[in-house]
Amino acid sequence: MSGGRQTEEAAEGLLREAGALLEGHFQLASGRHSGVYVEKFRLLERPPQTDALCRMIADWARELSPQVVAGPTTGGIIVSYEVARHLGLRSIFAENAEAGGRAFQRGFTIAPGERVLVVDDVLTTGGSVRDVLDAVRAMGGEPLAVAVLIDRSGGKSNGSVGADFGVPFFSCLALDLPSHEPADCPLCEQGLPLTIT
Ligand SMILES: [Zn+2]
Repeated sequence: MSGGRQTEEAAEGLLREAGALLEGHFQLASGRHSGVYVEKFRLLERPPQTDALCRMIADWARELSPQVVAGPTTGGIIVSYEVARHLGLRSIFAENAEAGGRAFQRGFTIAPGERVLVVDDVLTTGGSVRDVLDAVRAMGGEPLAVAVLIDRSGGKSNGSVGADFGVPFFSCLALDLPSHEPADCPLCEQGLPLTIT
């Protein structure tokens, strides 16, 4: 689920305020072209707006009674820390492991059965979140829920990718951003200069 219309409007306002929602003509990592681009680090470099969004996640997750918050490197570290601060919990992060996937290193521990809230900044393919869920299970923890600041996986307010995680899912804002193959991109047709992201 997403945070509902009021939450979504507030979240979009915070992203615009931070300059994280850019409009123009962008080539995404996938090679497709889009008229909107989310530059998450414009948000994450601003504590007030980032904090306000992380508070939305904390308010949603509180009644699930998580015991620890975990996220993937890089932006997920910030989101995890801020959400954990609101909930009065530990914050840990999973980083790229030599064997592939992600792992909790640096002496981070999860107790057997400990209930873990997994968070991230922007959900696109869901790969990073899945890696963290695997890392939680590998340590004997129980993935309790997944929450992200922005779901741009193409899911509507329910989040199609989010629903695949097998645990309750929340996004502050679900963005269904149209993108085009370069060959039939209307922005190319208009001759708008292309920004490679
Ligand atoms: Zn184009």
